[in-house]
Amino acid sequence: MTPPSFPTTPRQKHYDVVIIGGATTGTSIAWHLSTNPDFHGSVLVVERDPTLQHSATKASNNCMRQQFATKINIKIAQYAADFVKQFGERFGSEPCVPNPPIRDFGYLYLSDSEPFTKILAKDQQLQTSLGAGTRVISPAEIKERYPFFYADDLHSGSLNTQDEGCFHALGMVEWMRKTAIENGVEYIRNEVVGMAVAHDQIQTLELLDGQTIHVVDKVVNAAGTRAAKVASLAGIDDLPVEARRRYTYIFSVDDPLPQDLPLTIDPSGVHFRSYTDRDYLVGCPPVGPDVAVDVDDFSFIEDAWKEKVLPIISRRIPGFSTARVTDSWVGHYEFNTFDQNAVVGAHSSIDNFLFCVGFSGHGSQQAPACGRGIAELVVYGEFRTLNLSALSYTRIVEGRPLTERAVI
Ligand SMILES: Cc1cc2nc3c(=O)[nH]c(=O)nc-3n(C[C@H](O)[C@H](O)[C@H](O)COP(=O)(O)OP(=O)(O)OC[C@H]3O[C@@H](n4cnc5c(N)ncnc54)[C@H](O)[C@@H]3O)c2cc1C
Repeated sequence: MTPPSFPTTPRQKHYDVVIIGGATTGTSIAWHLSTNPDFHGSVLVVERDPTLQHSATKASNNCMRQQFATKINIKIAQYAADFVKQFGERFGSEPCVPNPPIRDFGYLYLSDSEPFTKILAKDQQLQTSLGAGTRVISPAEIKERYPFFYADDLHSGSLNTQDEGCFHALGMVEWMRKTAIENGVEYIRNEVVGMAVAHDQIQTLELLDGQTIHVVDKVVNAAGTRAAKVASLAGIDDLPVEARRRYTYIFSVDDPLPQDLPLTIDPSGVHFRSYTDRDYLVGCPPVGPDVAVDVDDFSFIEDAWKEKVLPIISRRIPGFSTARVTDSWVGHYEFNTFDQNAVVGAHSSIDNFLFCVGFSGHGSQQAPACGRGIAELVVYGEFRTLNLSALSYTRIVEGRPLTERAVI
């Protein structure tokens, strides 16, 4: 992605909507506002680092799936597929938009036990009732379709190759940002460091260099791993979002597979897929405890490749025993410790403060639907297309978790 050069000073003193964070989520909200014919207000996006170097956005593995266990997450994923396919069709000549827009080699959950197969079968019923193409397949069918897998320990697999696989998430952000700016959205390079709240409303925002922005209507927190810090500027200290370390490795092997490798979720939790035609991507949580980390700490604190990844991938695909790492990075999930689902909507007491945070590893694909939802809240005061109230802030305040089993 070409880093844009934004000014540090906004053109106006007052904005109808100020979005804090200009990566995937903030940009989706800006795009959906700027293309809503019923919206006529001004929008300012404040982004502290337009290169997005240390954002979750930059670290994303760019995958999308409909194999979730809750209706709301399945519907959100279906809008992502439609959105991405639509911009591919309409704007296919844009350099940032690949064709085809979704590389639909699918997701394949592998089960090594009867209880997990039962869970997969239950989830598959929900998914197919909503139009997803998921099938639970036997070890024999896994072997037939993907002969390179070691399958002797497998009980079943859950596979969907319809609108599941990977997409160009950064290209989507680049394209949405370009279009939003053309439509009048203003982006600045600056950091929101203070808020003045009166009568349960955010009145002004303070920027790092001392400038003040007056808020006419709404402020949106789309600050990713810094979301809790941004919430605290308004005195909100109960947002359960923290940074959690996740490793990604790109690797090549002596003999690449003769076909695409679906995003395969091994029973161990390690997940891997085709990256280009000749190499592969694997992602995993830490080997040690999965704990909160400093938002600026991107160090490899352990050799997850040697200790965890290589033994698991070379057992599942014996040909991968020759795997060599060619690239790797540490990224941070914006992890919702309460229920690992996004928080989308107004704060329960400061109702001009909207949240679109806590995606816990799914934000690249959830940004289109959640950005559209926030735009609808701004314009209409309610969700109009897809009711996202299951993801409300209120559930946190009231202690009602939305359980999503299918978290990777
Ligand atoms: C390793 C890894 C793999 C992933 N793989 C996938 C995947 O395959 N599929 C998927 O759907 N999702 C995936 N995700 C999740 C996805 O990347 C994130 O959920 C998504 O990018 C979140 O976008 P965001 O815009 O909300 O947050 P971020 O990308 O973190 O952006 C937040 C932005 O806010 C800015 N900001 C913060 N505070 C301030 C402030 N005070 N003032 C101004 N600006 C501020 C930051 O600079 C940052 O650019 C993955 C994440 C990781 C880490």
